[in-house]
Amino acid sequence: MSELGPSPLMAGDLNLSVAQARATIAAALTPITGSESVGLTQALGRVLAADVISPIAVPAHDNSAMDGYAFAGARLVEGVTSRFTPIGTAFAGAAFAGEVGAGQCVRIMTGAVMPAGCDTVVPQELCGVDAGSGAVCIEPGVIRRGENRRKRGEDLALGGCALPAGRVIRPVDLGLIASLGITSVTVRRRLRVALFSTGNELRSPDQPLDDGCIYDSNRYSLMGALQRLGMEVVDLGLVRDDPAALQATLDIAVAQADVVLTSGGVSVGEADYTRTLLASMGEVAFWKVAMRPGRPFAFGPLRGTTPDTTSWLFALPGNPVAALVTFYVFARDALLQLAGATPEPLVVLQARSTAAIRKRPGRSEFQRGRVSQAADGAWQVEITGSQGAGILRSMSEANCLVVLGHEQASVAVGDRVDVWLFDGLV
Ligand code: AMP
Ligand code: MG
Repeated sequence: MSELGPSPLMAGDLNLSVAQARATIAAALTPITGSESVGLTQALGRVLAADVISPIAVPAHDNSAMDGYAFAGARLVEGVTSRFTPIGTAFAGAAFAGEVGAGQCVRIMTGAVMPAGCDTVVPQELCGVDAGSGAVCIEPGVIRRGENRRKRGEDLALGGCALPAGRVIRPVDLGLIASLGITSVTVRRRLRVALFSTGNELRSPDQPLDDGCIYDSNRYSLMGALQRLGMEVVDLGLVRDDPAALQATLDIAVAQADVVLTSGGVSVGEADYTRTLLASMGEVAFWKVAMRPGRPFAFGPLRGTTPDTTSWLFALPGNPVAALVTFYVFARDALLQLAGATPEPLVVLQARSTAAIRKRPGRSEFQRGRVSQAADGAWQVEITGSQGAGILRSMSEANCLVVLGHEQASVAVGDRVDVWLFDGLV
């Protein structure tokens, strides 16, 4: 259902590093193109489809940056106390309309329009008022001409680009757009992601748990991760390990969505029929990525039952932690790229490891950790509990992933390691 081009990928097993896998995915994708107009209050997290151009100068007038007195800075004389007679008051939203003559000043509030003839504001705490004459007295050297005046258009010129296309709209951007008097923006349509879990042993949380079965957790954690990214989720539920059921669900998924996100069914024991089925639908590559957790992973374009419908398949491993880690490592940036977002670099923290970590070079490892501040103020990270690929609790207790790169060897106590934080400020 989308405008995806042909894939450069070849089907088959590939041994790849994390970096190679990420680069291969990024090179294959082109963003979707549809857009829509949304009101400002609905725009948070959406991707701008076009630059936001300012229809006004911001600020619209020269105005005061301080509470104080506005006057003509040319009247300041070096080395002597300058005196100005106040002749009125300028409030934010209520300008002083009169003329300001030589030796005169106007009491002014922050944000008030600068009166004609004034170009300088002395903050009230930096001047004195003569008890007898009421004159405002400014000692030499306290202020220079032009200070504490915000100039018309200094934040943004009329016709200037306030926000670039590709920006994922943040709270401050909503404020910035509102400050221009704009009430709606053109955003990319949401990326549609069809999501399902595979496995005969899986039950929905609202079903009885039959012998030997487990509850499907991946669909819920992945749904949350997709929602955080502003994606539209098409929930296709649970699918049994059965070629006909899988085929039918994939057909529905490709017809409805830009991306098909699955978990389970790509590990060695189960991959054979999945592989045969996917081979008939597109050019999906099965990768053995040199990483832990999350080695089995499949990616590529799938053709639908009607001509010209294609979706990108991201088939994640079934183990709950591996599914989430591979989502963050491979799918997150790819989905943002497809959604038309300009990538913001992930800020990587370096923290001291509180324990030794055994690691051999030649694969990337992602361990669950908790970052905290040590007594000396430095950031430190502790690995949370058991690191088994199926143990969600230690992922839930974590606030970060400790990322040990492809070439990295074992870590000693106190060594610095890279950390990807789960939550940020905005
Ligand atoms: P698979 O990749 O299908 O071989 O699954 C690997 C492990 O993850 C097995 O123990 C599965 O039971 C488990 N698993 C697969 N899918 C899910 C799911 N959606 N929720 C929880 N566990 C799962
Ligand atoms: Mg399975």
